[in-house]
Amino acid sequence: MKIESKLAQIGSVSEPVTGAVSFPIYQATAFRHPKLGQSTGFDYSRTKNPTRSVLEEAIAELESGDRGFALSSGMAALQTVFALFSQGDHLIVSVDLYGGTYRLLEKVMSRFGVQATYVDTNDLSELESVYRLGSTKAVLIETPTNPLMMVTDIAAVCQWAKEKELLTIVDNTLLSPFLQRPLELGADIVVHSATKYLGGHNDVLAGLIVTKGTELSEKIFFLYNSIGAVLGPQDSWLLMRGMKTLALRMERHEYNATCIANWLLEHPLITDVYYPALASHPGYEIQKKQSRGNTGIFSFKVSDARLVEPLLRHLELIAFAESLGGVESLLTYPAVQTHADIPVEIRERVGVDDRLLRFSVGIEHVDDLIADLSRALDMAQSELAGGTV
Ligand SMILES: *Cc1c(COP(=O)(O)O)cnc(C)c1O
Repeated sequence: MKIESKLAQIGSVSEPVTGAVSFPIYQATAFRHPKLGQSTGFDYSRTKNPTRSVLEEAIAELESGDRGFALSSGMAALQTVFALFSQGDHLIVSVDLYGGTYRLLEKVMSRFGVQATYVDTNDLSELESVYRLGSTKAVLIETPTNPLMMVTDIAAVCQWAKEKELLTIVDNTLLSPFLQRPLELGADIVVHSATKYLGGHNDVLAGLIVTKGTELSEKIFFLYNSIGAVLGPQDSWLLMRGMKTLALRMERHEYNATCIANWLLEHPLITDVYYPALASHPGYEIQKKQSRGNTGIFSFKVSDARLVEPLLRHLELIAFAESLGGVESLLTYPAVQTHADIPVEIRERVGVDDRLLRFSVGIEHVDDLIADLSRALDMAQSELAGGTV
């Protein structure tokens, strides 16, 4: 079955008693045992809840994995995966990383003796140079990265990691399984902030993990149940409801983002556009090879940092807000919002400076989005020229 059909049908044949097409919310934490030594398969909702189970089976199938896990946020999913590691272990991580993941590694995991080194994961010589025999245990990739949209060849890294018996973990938040399935390219674990495209409506916070292989699946299940940062039944239902329209949404996000990125390329106040859908992007070929299409997120730089404040102030349709992947368009200023926890030296080394803006393009009509940007850029420029900013 094609992925569009799997998405639309999530949970639709799972309820045998009434035939409800929308799988019910089982708002229960405890389940009665038929008799001593027997279980319905459900005992206590931290371990397993019927609504959450339908979601977990769906994401496992969508990502071509063996087992899925739904957690209370993307960070909870990452924390649960990081609990695989012990004191003295070392991770190799994509340099242009989600700020919260960097914070979790540097401010929390480091206190437990787990170390991380940040490199361009698309450069195998960089991976090789930071690899520590005996202590390196895994590679964590984001591709494309956020906000700079650096693309990593997932299959190449997985092959390198396998030779060294390292796990490959991919944060697939920016593309979703509709566009890219890392487990099919050799990865061991996929992580999602389902708060973003999977949920898609800026209304549910959730995280997902998908694993390959029985042993690894059992280890993650043990940690997930032990730590307990699981997703509640209402949010599990809301997430499945969002996921049913993922294919349609992603197609529109990509279409809108491509139109706007091409429009910005020609705009005199824009110096750079970072989007792997553009043939000029260094990751264009790899992106085309390993995914079905492009995310609706890209970044761009304005010619003068003083344009940022009036630009954000004059936007009417596009919201200045700190998330991505929803139906509503949001513009983020990474240097002061999402990436503020990353030290200035690292931020500047990779190019997250005060002229950079990240655009999560929604599913509104593209003409309205371009008109909003165009007007706000013109007004920002006239304020700058008039000396009012
Ligand atoms: C948002 C995000 C996270 C964190 O997810 P939450 O649901 O906010 O906890 C992790 N990775 C990426 C790439 C993200 O965009």
